[in-house]
Amino acid sequence: MTTKPNPFQNALKQLDIAAELLKMDPDIYQMLKEPKRVVTVAVPVRMDSGEVITYLGYRIQHNDARGPYKGGIRYHPDVSLDEVKALAFWMTWKCGVVDIPFGGAKGGVICNPKEMSRSEKERLTRRYTSMIAPLMGPYIDIPAPDVYTDAQTMAWIMDTYSQLTGYRVPECVTGKPVSLGGSEGRAEATGLGAAICASEAANAIGLNLKDATVAIQGFGNVGSNAALFLAEMGCKIIALSDSRGGIFSPKGINPLAALRYKEKTGSVVGMAGCDEITNEELLELECDILLPAALENVITQENASRVKARIVVEGANGPTTPEADKILYSNKVFVVPDILANAGGVTVSYFEWVQNLNRDHWNLAEVKRKLEEKMISAFKSVYETSVKYNIDMRAAALMVGVGRVAEAIKTLGIWP
Ligand code: GLU
Repeated sequence: MTTKPNPFQNALKQLDIAAELLKMDPDIYQMLKEPKRVVTVAVPVRMDSGEVITYLGYRIQHNDARGPYKGGIRYHPDVSLDEVKALAFWMTWKCGVVDIPFGGAKGGVICNPKEMSRSEKERLTRRYTSMIAPLMGPYIDIPAPDVYTDAQTMAWIMDTYSQLTGYRVPECVTGKPVSLGGSEGRAEATGLGAAICASEAANAIGLNLKDATVAIQGFGNVGSNAALFLAEMGCKIIALSDSRGGIFSPKGINPLAALRYKEKTGSVVGMAGCDEITNEELLELECDILLPAALENVITQENASRVKARIVVEGANGPTTPEADKILYSNKVFVVPDILANAGGVTVSYFEWVQNLNRDHWNLAEVKRKLEEKMISAFKSVYETSVKYNIDMRAAALMVGVGRVAEAIKTLGIWP
Protein backbone atom coordinates (compact mmCIF):
# COMPACT_ATOMS: atom_id res chain seq x y z
CA MET A 1 0.00 0.00 0.00
CA THR A 2 1.41 3.41 -0.90
CA THR A 3 0.75 6.15 1.62
CA LYS A 4 -0.02 9.66 0.41
CA PRO A 5 3.19 11.74 0.48
CA ASN A 6 3.16 14.40 3.19
CA PRO A 7 4.34 17.76 1.78
CA PHE A 8 5.91 18.82 5.09
CA GLN A 9 7.95 15.61 5.27
CA ASN A 10 9.04 16.31 1.68
CA ALA A 11 10.04 19.87 2.59
CA LEU A 12 12.08 18.54 5.51
CA LYS A 13 13.84 16.02 3.27
CA GLN A 14 14.75 18.87 0.93
CA LEU A 15 16.08 20.94 3.84
CA ASP A 16 18.22 17.95 4.83
CA ILE A 17 19.69 17.81 1.32
CA ALA A 18 20.55 21.51 1.48
CA ALA A 19 21.93 21.25 5.02
CA GLU A 20 24.26 18.47 4.00
CA LEU A 21 25.50 20.18 0.85
CA LEU A 22 26.00 23.47 2.69
CA LYS A 23 27.54 21.77 5.73
CA MET A 24 25.05 23.83 7.71
CA ASP A 25 25.65 24.70 11.34
CA PRO A 26 23.29 22.40 13.36
CA ASP A 27 22.01 25.41 15.35
CA ILE A 28 20.82 27.07 12.15
CA TYR A 29 19.34 23.79 10.92
CA GLN A 30 17.30 23.57 14.11
CA MET A 31 16.00 27.11 13.60
CA LEU A 32 14.94 26.35 10.02
CA LYS A 33 13.25 23.02 10.49
CA GLU A 34 10.17 24.49 12.17
CA PRO A 35 8.28 27.67 11.23
CA LYS A 36 8.85 30.62 13.57
CA ARG A 37 5.13 31.11 14.05
CA VAL A 38 2.07 28.96 13.36
CA VAL A 39 -1.35 30.51 13.67
CA THR A 40 -4.64 28.64 13.46
CA VAL A 41 -7.87 30.59 13.19
CA ALA A 42 -11.49 29.46 13.29
CA VAL A 43 -13.30 31.80 10.92
CA PRO A 44 -17.09 32.08 11.30
CA VAL A 45 -18.88 33.03 8.09
CA ARG A 46 -22.58 33.73 7.64
CA MET A 47 -23.58 31.97 4.44
CA ASP A 48 -26.21 33.39 2.05
CA SER A 49 -28.71 30.92 3.52
CA GLY A 50 -28.34 32.50 6.98
CA GLU A 51 -26.49 29.47 8.33
CA VAL A 52 -23.07 30.02 9.95
CA ILE A 53 -20.10 27.86 8.92
CA THR A 54 -16.81 28.08 10.82
CA TYR A 55 -13.84 27.49 8.53
CA LEU A 56 -10.40 26.51 9.75
CA GLY A 57 -7.58 28.70 8.48
CA TYR A 58 -3.83 29.07 8.95
CA ARG A 59 -1.08 31.62 8.57
CA ILE A 60 2.37 30.20 8.92
CA GLN A 61 5.48 32.36 9.16
CA HIS A 62 8.53 30.26 8.49
CA ASN A 63 11.47 32.65 8.53
CA ASP A 64 12.11 36.40 8.28
CA ALA A 65 15.91 36.63 8.45
CA ARG A 66 16.09 38.26 4.99
CA GLY A 67 13.02 40.49 5.26
CA PRO A 68 9.30 40.54 6.05
CA TYR A 69 7.39 37.27 5.73
CA LYS A 70 5.90 36.82 2.25
CA GLY A 71 3.58 34.30 0.69
CA GLY A 72 0.17 33.59 -0.72
CA ILE A 73 -3.14 32.46 0.75
CA ARG A 74 -4.79 29.33 -0.59
CA TYR A 75 -8.50 28.42 -0.49
CA HIS A 76 -8.95 24.68 -1.07
CA PRO A 77 -10.77 21.74 0.55
CA ASP A 78 -7.47 19.82 0.84
CA VAL A 79 -5.59 22.54 2.74
CA SER A 80 -3.89 21.11 5.85
CA LEU A 81 -1.47 22.39 8.47
CA ASP A 82 1.37 20.28 7.03
CA GLU A 83 0.66 21.50 3.51
CA VAL A 84 0.73 25.17 4.54
CA LYS A 85 3.91 24.58 6.57
CA ALA A 86 5.63 23.09 3.52
CA LEU A 87 4.42 25.95 1.32
CA ALA A 88 5.81 28.47 3.85
CA PHE A 89 9.22 26.73 3.76
CA TRP A 90 9.24 26.88 -0.04
CA MET A 91 8.47 30.62 0.04
CA THR A 92 11.54 31.24 2.23
CA TRP A 93 13.84 29.37 -0.16
CA LYS A 94 12.13 30.88 -3.23
CA CYS A 95 12.74 34.47 -2.08
CA GLY A 96 16.34 33.43 -1.44
CA VAL A 97 16.73 31.92 -4.93
CA VAL A 98 15.56 35.10 -6.72
CA ASP A 99 17.35 37.19 -4.11
CA ILE A 100 14.50 39.46 -3.03
CA PRO A 101 14.46 40.84 0.53
CA PHE A 102 11.62 38.73 1.92
CA GLY A 103 11.22 35.77 4.22
CA GLY A 104 8.66 33.03 3.74
CA ALA A 105 5.08 32.51 4.89
CA LYS A 106 1.86 30.93 3.66
CA GLY A 107 -1.82 31.01 4.50
CA GLY A 108 -4.66 28.66 3.79
CA VAL A 109 -8.32 28.17 4.54
CA ILE A 110 -10.01 24.77 4.34
CA CYS A 111 -13.04 25.55 2.17
CA ASN A 112 -14.44 24.87 -1.27
CA PRO A 113 -14.56 28.25 -3.02
CA LYS A 114 -16.21 26.63 -6.07
CA GLU A 115 -19.32 26.07 -3.97
CA MET A 116 -19.36 29.54 -2.40
CA SER A 117 -20.99 32.72 -3.71
CA ARG A 118 -18.97 35.87 -4.27
CA SER A 119 -20.36 37.49 -1.12
CA GLU A 120 -19.65 34.38 0.97
CA LYS A 121 -16.03 34.47 -0.25
CA GLU A 122 -15.86 38.18 0.56
CA ARG A 123 -17.10 37.60 4.13
CA LEU A 124 -14.69 34.70 4.60
CA THR A 125 -11.77 36.76 3.30
CA ARG A 126 -12.56 39.82 5.42
CA ARG A 127 -13.06 37.83 8.61
CA TYR A 128 -9.92 35.73 8.03
CA THR A 129 -7.96 38.94 7.37
CA SER A 130 -9.25 40.53 10.56
CA MET A 131 -8.07 37.47 12.49
CA ILE A 132 -4.52 37.49 11.08
CA ALA A 133 -4.29 41.31 10.91
CA PRO A 134 -2.27 41.65 14.14
CA LEU A 135 0.41 39.47 12.54
CA MET A 136 0.46 41.06 9.10
CA GLY A 137 1.57 44.44 7.75
CA PRO A 138 3.82 45.95 5.07
CA TYR A 139 6.95 45.42 7.19
CA ILE A 140 5.75 42.24 8.94
CA ASP A 141 3.98 39.79 6.65
CA ILE A 142 2.60 40.51 3.18
CA PRO A 143 0.06 38.03 1.72
CA ALA A 144 -0.61 37.41 -1.99
CA PRO A 145 -2.78 35.17 -4.19
CA ASP A 146 -2.38 31.40 -4.45
CA VAL A 147 -4.65 28.52 -5.48
CA TYR A 148 -8.28 29.78 -5.86
CA THR A 149 -7.56 33.29 -4.59
CA ASP A 150 -7.10 36.21 -6.97
CA ALA A 151 -6.78 39.99 -7.34
CA GLN A 152 -10.33 40.50 -6.02
CA THR A 153 -9.49 38.49 -2.90
CA MET A 154 -6.42 40.71 -2.41
CA ALA A 155 -8.59 43.84 -2.80
CA TRP A 156 -10.80 42.63 0.10
CA ILE A 157 -7.71 41.88 2.20
CA MET A 158 -6.26 45.33 1.51
CA ASP A 159 -9.54 47.06 2.29
CA THR A 160 -10.10 45.11 5.52
CA TYR A 161 -6.57 45.75 6.75
CA SER A 162 -6.88 49.43 5.82
CA GLN A 163 -10.24 49.81 7.62
CA LEU A 164 -8.69 48.31 10.76
CA THR A 165 -5.63 50.56 10.47
CA GLY A 166 -7.54 53.77 9.81
CA TYR A 167 -5.89 54.69 6.53
CA ARG A 168 -5.27 53.06 3.15
CA VAL A 169 -2.32 50.63 3.21
CA PRO A 170 -1.90 49.24 -0.32
CA GLU A 171 1.55 47.84 0.55
CA CYS A 172 0.07 45.34 3.06
CA VAL A 173 -0.73 42.80 0.31
CA THR A 174 0.37 42.11 -3.29
CA GLY A 175 -1.43 40.79 -6.34
CA LYS A 176 -4.06 43.52 -6.04
CA PRO A 177 -6.06 44.79 -9.02
CA VAL A 178 -4.13 47.48 -10.92
CA SER A 179 -6.88 49.98 -10.06
CA LEU A 180 -5.96 49.61 -6.36
CA GLY A 181 -2.18 49.79 -6.66
CA GLY A 182 -1.51 46.36 -8.10
CA SER A 183 1.50 46.01 -10.39
CA GLU A 184 1.23 45.76 -14.13
CA GLY A 185 2.10 42.22 -15.11
CA ARG A 186 1.52 40.64 -11.68
CA ALA A 187 -1.37 38.43 -12.83
CA GLU A 188 0.70 36.79 -15.57
CA ALA A 189 4.07 36.94 -13.74
CA THR A 190 4.25 33.32 -12.53
CA GLY A 191 3.37 31.98 -15.99
CA LEU A 192 5.88 34.30 -17.66
CA GLY A 193 8.60 33.34 -15.17
CA ALA A 194 7.91 29.65 -15.85
CA ALA A 195 8.07 30.23 -19.62
CA ILE A 196 11.40 32.08 -19.22
CA CYS A 197 12.71 29.11 -17.21
CA ALA A 198 11.51 26.68 -19.90
CA SER A 199 13.39 28.69 -22.49
CA GLU A 200 16.57 28.79 -20.38
CA ALA A 201 16.33 25.05 -19.72
CA ALA A 202 15.83 24.39 -23.45
CA ASN A 203 18.98 26.39 -24.10
CA ALA A 204 20.88 24.39 -21.50
CA ILE A 205 20.03 21.04 -23.12
CA GLY A 206 20.11 22.22 -26.75
CA LEU A 207 16.38 21.95 -27.41
CA ASN A 208 14.90 24.28 -30.02
CA LEU A 209 11.72 25.89 -28.66
CA LYS A 210 10.27 26.23 -32.15
CA ASP A 211 7.64 23.47 -32.34
CA ALA A 212 8.82 21.98 -29.02
CA THR A 213 5.86 20.04 -27.65
CA VAL A 214 4.42 21.06 -24.29
CA ALA A 215 1.96 19.38 -21.90
CA ILE A 216 0.51 21.48 -19.08
CA GLN A 217 -1.26 20.09 -16.05
CA GLY A 218 -3.50 22.75 -14.51
CA PHE A 219 -5.07 25.58 -16.48
CA GLY A 220 -5.50 28.18 -13.74
CA ASN A 221 -3.53 31.40 -13.47
CA VAL A 222 -0.10 29.77 -13.78
CA GLY A 223 -0.84 27.11 -16.42
CA SER A 224 -2.89 29.32 -18.71
CA ASN A 225 -0.40 32.20 -18.72
CA ALA A 226 2.55 29.85 -19.18
CA ALA A 227 0.70 28.31 -22.15
CA LEU A 228 0.17 31.72 -23.75
CA PHE A 229 3.82 32.76 -23.33
CA LEU A 230 5.20 29.39 -24.48
CA ALA A 231 2.99 29.48 -27.57
CA GLU A 232 4.30 32.99 -28.26
CA MET A 233 7.84 31.59 -28.04
CA GLY A 234 6.98 29.07 -30.76
CA CYS A 235 6.12 25.98 -28.70
CA LYS A 236 3.27 23.65 -29.62
CA ILE A 237 0.89 23.04 -26.72
CA ILE A 238 -0.28 19.44 -27.20
CA ALA A 239 -2.09 18.84 -23.91
CA LEU A 240 -3.86 20.82 -21.19
CA SER A 241 -5.89 19.86 -18.16
CA ASP A 242 -7.82 21.16 -15.18
CA SER A 243 -9.45 19.52 -12.17
CA ARG A 244 -12.13 17.94 -14.39
CA GLY A 245 -9.70 16.23 -16.80
CA GLY A 246 -7.44 16.84 -19.76
CA ILE A 247 -7.39 17.33 -23.53
CA PHE A 248 -4.81 16.23 -26.08
CA SER A 249 -4.18 17.16 -29.68
CA PRO A 250 -0.94 16.25 -31.49
CA LYS A 251 -1.68 19.07 -33.97
CA GLY A 252 -1.49 21.63 -31.15
CA ILE A 253 -4.05 23.49 -29.04
CA ASN A 254 -4.52 27.25 -29.27
CA PRO A 255 -4.20 28.33 -25.60
CA LEU A 256 -6.25 31.49 -26.10
CA ALA A 257 -9.12 29.47 -27.59
CA ALA A 258 -8.81 27.03 -24.67
CA LEU A 259 -8.98 29.91 -22.22
CA ARG A 260 -12.12 31.30 -23.88
CA TYR A 261 -13.65 27.79 -23.88
CA LYS A 262 -12.88 27.32 -20.18
CA GLU A 263 -14.33 30.74 -19.33
CA LYS A 264 -17.56 29.71 -21.06
CA THR A 265 -17.91 26.13 -19.85
CA GLY A 266 -15.83 25.99 -16.66
CA SER A 267 -13.35 23.46 -18.03
CA VAL A 268 -11.06 22.74 -20.98
CA VAL A 269 -12.65 19.30 -21.25
CA GLY A 270 -14.87 18.98 -24.32
CA MET A 271 -12.94 21.38 -26.53
CA ALA A 272 -13.51 20.57 -30.20
CA GLY A 273 -10.77 18.75 -32.12
CA CYS A 274 -9.14 17.31 -28.98
CA ASP A 275 -9.10 13.84 -27.46
CA GLU A 276 -9.91 13.50 -23.78
CA ILE A 277 -7.19 12.27 -21.46
CA THR A 278 -6.84 12.03 -17.69
CA ASN A 279 -4.57 14.19 -15.56
CA GLU A 280 -2.43 11.11 -14.92
CA GLU A 281 -2.09 10.31 -18.64
CA LEU A 282 -1.04 13.89 -19.34
CA LEU A 283 2.02 13.52 -17.09
CA GLU A 284 3.21 10.49 -19.05
CA LEU A 285 2.78 11.92 -22.56
CA GLU A 286 5.54 11.91 -25.12
CA CYS A 287 6.54 15.61 -25.14
CA ASP A 288 9.54 17.93 -24.81
CA ILE A 289 8.36 20.05 -21.90
CA LEU A 290 6.02 19.04 -19.07
CA LEU A 291 4.65 21.80 -16.89
CA PRO A 292 2.81 20.64 -13.76
CA ALA A 293 0.91 23.76 -12.68
CA ALA A 294 -1.71 22.43 -10.28
CA LEU A 295 -1.09 20.89 -6.85
CA GLU A 296 1.54 18.95 -4.89
CA ASN A 297 2.71 15.36 -5.23
CA VAL A 298 1.63 14.55 -8.77
CA ILE A 299 4.98 13.12 -9.89
CA THR A 300 5.75 10.35 -7.44
CA GLN A 301 7.80 7.20 -7.04
CA GLU A 302 4.96 5.40 -8.78
CA ASN A 303 4.81 7.31 -12.10
CA ALA A 304 8.17 9.16 -12.33
CA SER A 305 9.81 6.49 -14.47
CA ARG A 306 7.02 6.92 -17.04
CA VAL A 307 7.59 10.69 -17.47
CA LYS A 308 8.87 11.05 -21.03
CA ALA A 309 9.40 14.82 -21.15
CA ARG A 310 12.98 16.09 -21.52
CA ILE A 311 12.26 19.11 -19.33
CA VAL A 312 9.92 19.44 -16.33
CA VAL A 313 9.12 23.03 -15.32
CA GLU A 314 7.39 23.13 -11.94
CA GLY A 315 4.76 25.86 -12.14
CA ALA A 316 3.07 24.37 -9.08
CA ASN A 317 4.62 24.23 -5.63
CA GLY A 318 5.84 20.77 -4.64
CA PRO A 319 4.58 18.71 -7.62
CA THR A 320 7.48 16.22 -7.40
CA THR A 321 8.25 14.05 -4.37
CA PRO A 322 11.90 13.59 -3.26
CA GLU A 323 11.75 9.91 -4.34
CA ALA A 324 10.51 10.92 -7.80
CA ASP A 325 13.29 13.52 -8.02
CA LYS A 326 15.88 10.77 -7.87
CA ILE A 327 14.18 8.80 -10.65
CA LEU A 328 13.88 11.86 -12.93
CA TYR A 329 17.53 12.73 -12.33
CA SER A 330 18.75 9.26 -13.15
CA ASN A 331 16.58 9.30 -16.30
CA LYS A 332 18.26 12.60 -17.29
CA VAL A 333 15.07 14.65 -17.16
CA PHE A 334 16.00 18.31 -16.68
CA VAL A 335 13.84 19.57 -13.79
CA VAL A 336 13.43 23.29 -13.17
CA PRO A 337 12.33 23.17 -9.51
CA ASP A 338 9.34 25.09 -8.15
CA ILE A 339 11.38 27.50 -6.02
CA LEU A 340 12.95 28.74 -9.25
CA ALA A 341 10.32 27.96 -11.91
CA ASN A 342 7.38 29.66 -10.19
CA ALA A 343 9.32 32.48 -8.53
CA GLY A 344 8.13 35.01 -11.13
CA GLY A 345 4.98 35.58 -9.08
CA VAL A 346 6.67 36.59 -5.86
CA THR A 347 9.25 38.57 -7.82
CA VAL A 348 6.58 40.83 -9.30
CA SER A 349 4.95 40.87 -5.84
CA TYR A 350 8.20 42.38 -4.64
CA PHE A 351 8.05 44.94 -7.49
CA GLU A 352 4.47 45.76 -6.46
CA TRP A 353 5.50 46.28 -2.82
CA VAL A 354 8.38 48.56 -3.88
CA GLN A 355 6.06 50.58 -6.14
CA ASN A 356 3.47 50.91 -3.34
CA LEU A 357 6.03 52.01 -0.75
CA ASN A 358 7.32 54.62 -3.21
CA ARG A 359 3.81 55.61 -4.38
CA ASP A 360 5.05 54.79 -7.88
CA HIS A 361 3.67 52.92 -10.88
CA TRP A 362 5.87 51.19 -13.45
CA ASN A 363 4.68 50.34 -16.95
CA LEU A 364 4.31 46.77 -18.20
CA ALA A 365 7.45 46.85 -20.31
CA GLU A 366 9.53 47.89 -17.29
CA VAL A 367 8.02 45.16 -15.08
CA LYS A 368 8.62 42.50 -17.72
CA ARG A 369 12.20 43.64 -18.31
CA LYS A 370 13.01 43.59 -14.60
CA LEU A 371 11.32 40.18 -14.17
CA GLU A 372 13.24 38.69 -17.05
CA GLU A 373 16.50 40.01 -15.62
CA LYS A 374 15.77 38.47 -12.19
CA MET A 375 14.63 35.11 -13.59
CA ILE A 376 17.59 34.73 -15.95
CA SER A 377 20.09 35.62 -13.28
CA ALA A 378 18.46 33.21 -10.77
CA PHE A 379 18.41 30.45 -13.39
CA LYS A 380 22.10 31.07 -14.09
CA SER A 381 23.13 30.86 -10.42
CA VAL A 382 21.18 27.64 -9.97
CA TYR A 383 22.41 26.05 -13.19
CA GLU A 384 26.02 26.96 -12.46
CA THR A 385 25.69 25.53 -8.95
CA SER A 386 24.27 22.28 -10.37
CA VAL A 387 27.22 21.99 -12.77
CA LYS A 388 29.82 22.97 -10.17
CA TYR A 389 28.66 20.42 -7.57
CA ASN A 390 27.39 17.87 -10.07
CA ILE A 391 23.92 17.85 -8.47
CA ASP A 392 20.38 18.09 -9.82
CA MET A 393 18.69 21.47 -10.30
CA ARG A 394 16.53 21.12 -7.15
CA ALA A 395 19.50 20.46 -4.90
CA ALA A 396 21.27 23.39 -6.59
CA ALA A 397 18.29 25.73 -6.10
CA LEU A 398 18.10 24.65 -2.46
CA MET A 399 21.81 25.32 -2.04
CA VAL A 400 21.35 28.84 -3.42
CA GLY A 401 18.08 29.67 -1.63
CA VAL A 402 18.66 27.96 1.73
CA GLY A 403 22.29 29.08 1.62
CA ARG A 404 21.31 32.76 1.47
CA VAL A 405 18.89 32.33 4.38
CA ALA A 406 21.44 30.45 6.50
CA GLU A 407 24.02 33.12 5.80
CA ALA A 408 21.59 35.85 6.93
CA ILE A 409 20.80 33.98 10.16
CA LYS A 410 24.49 33.48 10.86
CA THR A 411 25.19 37.18 10.39
CA LEU A 412 22.21 38.26 12.52
CA GLY A 413 23.13 36.01 15.41
CA ILE A 414 20.54 35.23 18.09
CA TRP A 415 19.05 37.93 20.25
CA PRO A 416 19.32 38.04 23.26
N1 GLU B 1 1.49 32.17 -4.12
C1 GLU B 1 2.60 32.51 -4.95
C2 GLU B 1 3.75 31.54 -4.72
O1 GLU B 1 3.56 30.43 -4.30
C3 GLU B 1 2.99 33.98 -4.85
C4 GLU B 1 3.43 34.44 -3.51
C5 GLU B 1 3.64 35.94 -3.39
O2 GLU B 1 3.56 36.64 -4.39
O3 GLU B 1 3.87 36.39 -2.28
O4 GLU B 1 4.88 31.83 -5.02
